[in-house]
Amino acid sequence: MTKQKEIFTPKDPENNKVCIYVCGVTSYDDSHVGHARTSVIFNVLVRKQCLLLFCWYLSHLGYEVIYVRNMTDIDDKIIDNGYAYEVEGDVYFSVDKISDYGRLSGQKVEDNQLGKRVAIDPRKKNPADFTLWKVAKPSKPSWDRPWSSRRPEWHIECSAMSAHYLTSSFDIHGGGTDLIFPHHENKIAQSSAACSKAKVSYWMHNDHMTKDENMEEERSNSAKAQIAYDVQNRVSKLHNDFECKMSDDLHTPEFLKSGLQNALRFINNTLDMVKKIIKPLQKKPQPSVFQSFDALESKIKELLKILGLLWSPSYLEILESLKEKALKRANIKLDYALQKIEERAEARKHKDYLKADEIR
Ligand SMILES: [Zn+2]
Repeated sequence: MTKQKEIFTPKDPENNKVCIYVCGVTSYDDSHVGHARTSVIFNVLVRKQCLLLFCWYLSHLGYEVIYVRNMTDIDDKIIDNGYAYEVEGDVYFSVDKISDYGRLSGQKVEDNQLGKRVAIDPRKKNPADFTLWKVAKPSKPSWDRPWSSRRPEWHIECSAMSAHYLTSSFDIHGGGTDLIFPHHENKIAQSSAACSKAKVSYWMHNDHMTKDENMEEERSNSAKAQIAYDVQNRVSKLHNDFECKMSDDLHTPEFLKSGLQNALRFINNTLDMVKKIIKPLQKKPQPSVFQSFDALESKIKELLKILGLLWSPSYLEILESLKEKALKRANIKLDYALQKIEERAEARKHKDYLKADEIR
């Protein structure tokens, strides 16, 4: 409630006993790995023993722990105490009856977000009022109440259950941050309406599981490291395969069929993996992945050259090398040559053929 970390002191320090209540997942859609987070976090905090005989944290600190997780139970005191009203069989909690409603979440009754998840019910006295009981539906479980057959709404389950097992006043109440409002706020309201002594000493909320950019970066980096390692392995495999096949009666076709083909297949498969794993994680293409292949490419070229199978350099490469040789012979730099070519073209344009010839 103070929105700060506090030193934990149990309500019953003499017996070193800690009473904890944790709300389970409220799932609106298909289950996903994030739903397990609350269970895992509070299990780490609480669980005494698992199959591996780990000693979990609170037990490790020497506490006797009473840990309750939710299911459904019922209580009528709220309506009897005048905190609730009935409309057409449904029972609503009146938030105006609680002076500090919103203390846990920091939400104000005026600007709360009701109606965002559920359309506002015009029968409510205040739009922030929440349902305690609904008229029973034939297909849903219900309980016979003094007024009629009804089913309890979401928030009341937890209040009833924690009060039943831990009394209305206990040490730690946990759950996901998505439950702070309205669920836990409403739980405080209805628990204090049912029992003036109701009090939770500490609220503990776990955050959602998020897709962490660093995690993705790490995944991408480890994939890159794996590729670099695999390429190195492939280079030495290729080299060994070449020497082995060639030493054994110059088995050139054998080498081309096995070693070389495997190397090419490796490149294809790895590029597929790069497309699937690394590329979607990165906004900009990263040259380092492709640099990993350089060593393998050089090795393949080297072996093909030995076998006389590597085509001579491309025309572009031939022209490049001729150009380099010519510049070297004339002892000039490329920039100077280009400048002279331009000057000659300019001279020809002005019909200054003497100058143009001289430059040539
Ligand atoms: Zn709950």
